[in-house]
Amino acid sequence: MDCLFCKIVNREIPGDIVFEDDEVLAFNDINPQAPTHVLIIPKRHIATLNDLEEGDLALVGRLQYVAARLARERGFAEEGYRVVMNCNDLGGQTVYHIHMHLMGGRRFTWPAG
Ligand code: 5GP
Ligand code: ZN
Repeated sequence: MDCLFCKIVNREIPGDIVFEDDEVLAFNDINPQAPTHVLIIPKRHIATLNDLEEGDLALVGRLQYVAARLARERGFAEEGYRVVMNCNDLGGQTVYHIHMHLMGGRRFTWPAG
């Protein structure tokens, strides 16, 4: 399958990996938007949030849990951070393998920026 993030999972292309377990991989975003910008993905290919099934609920919870754990390890859990999952074109998704963006180390505004 021609998927960039599957290739990182399979070590076919390099990724700056910061966390791995049986189900999840986390690596630094190549174009960081914050001092910490980590992408947390399931190892199994799921194209978009729309493709989630009920059996994936624990997996998505795990992505969120890993994000919170990395935030704590990096020391910005208490001051705050942002997690984002983009879905499809209008949502800003550019890589069609679901991923959670963990961004920390600066202030974020809402709804823009
Ligand atoms: P999306 O726009 O789909 O929510 O996020 C895709 C993210 O993947 C972007 O933040 C982009 O910088 C990142 N990205 C794209 N190509 C690569 C790559 O080859 N390696 C890494 N580490 N990140 C990538
Ligand atoms: Zn994939």
